[in-house]
Amino acid sequence: MSPPSRKSSASLAAPADLETLRAWFDAAVTPAFAVDPSGRLLLANRALVDLLGITPDVLVGKSLSNLVAVMGDALPNADAYSRRVSRLAEDKESVSDTLVEYHTDQQLFFKEISQPIRRSDGAPLGCLFLWVAMTREKQIDQNKNEFISIASHELRTPMTSIKGSLDLLLGGFAGDLGEETRELLVIAQSGCERLIRLINDVLDISKIEAGRMQLRLQPISLFDCVQRSARTIKSYADGFQVKIVIDCPGPPPEVLGDRDRLDQVVTNLLGNAVKFSPAGGTVTVSLCPVAGAMQCRVKDQGPGIPPDQRDRIFGKFQQVEGQAGKKGGTGLGLAIAQALIRQHQGRIWVESEVDRGSEFIFQIPSAPSGGT
Ligand code: ADP
Repeated sequence: MSPPSRKSSASLAAPADLETLRAWFDAAVTPAFAVDPSGRLLLANRALVDLLGITPDVLVGKSLSNLVAVMGDALPNADAYSRRVSRLAEDKESVSDTLVEYHTDQQLFFKEISQPIRRSDGAPLGCLFLWVAMTREKQIDQNKNEFISIASHELRTPMTSIKGSLDLLLGGFAGDLGEETRELLVIAQSGCERLIRLINDVLDISKIEAGRMQLRLQPISLFDCVQRSARTIKSYADGFQVKIVIDCPGPPPEVLGDRDRLDQVVTNLLGNAVKFSPAGGTVTVSLCPVAGAMQCRVKDQGPGIPPDQRDRIFGKFQQVEGQAGKKGGTGLGLAIAQALIRQHQGRIWVESEVDRGSEFIFQIPSAPSGGT
């Protein structure tokens, strides 16, 4: 027999409950409606019926096709809509969001957020749809982000197979290569690697801007992270004849971080420090605790960064003036690093002396058990 609490949470059809629910629902300023798994509208709030200039009875208790008919071109056809509802209800799709463009005497843009609703025993009750108002600029921005992210994904797959084939050829898979062929393939390989880096950076930025960059925070060692990054960058640093020194006195510093993303930040800072160092130079990474946080400092002996450029270089596609293109790079690394560090509740900045070198510093909260 079901316990009483379960029965009460499942009794949405009782008139009194429905009345209360409707009152709550009507109080929301965002147009909203609820649909049962068969595609029938259970509730439509005041904001929605006011927007459409209809009375609730045109929609409530009726099929979704009525809403589609009222909205005209603004919604997908009723079948596609119903399919989405049943996929959401059956958990084949999780929370989703799409754009709705609705024309009255003016053009209105909404981001439609749909979410499956279940009883406490897991049985599907249907879906809740919310239309969050957007400005035209925001909508264009969202379209642009989606386009960039799809295009980059599509580009990455063939680029990866081109790089794989070039690696195989250069590794001798098809026999010995003449000197000239090898040189040409090395050029193709390095162009390919550069393009893959750019695609990955663009994908990261579009994920960050769409608010879809998710971190898996856990206590991790920042020292391990620095060591991994130094290993990753070692052969690159050898190519520039630059030495990397790690300075970490005291116990291993633990932070609350996403391992892969912090590796990405440190690798980017190290890569820049190496790239801008003179041959024979040293890059020093030091770790030290500060109040409630861990600080990581990456110091080089490069050209330094003029004071008026120090904030600017954390922007997208920004490079120190007069330097663009000279050292390669996309101008996205620091923008990504800053967004990732901020998402860790930390901050990142640069201290520098022109002609003497730069020091990029970030700090993020220590792990609670870190004891700092
Ligand atoms: P990228 O290095 O790919 O161009 P970043 O966003 O990582 O992109 O860096 C942006 C710009 O900041 C660089 O192009 C360079 O002008 C400047 N910069 C970054 N790190 C250093 C450094 N260690 N020394 C001097 N300039 C730097």
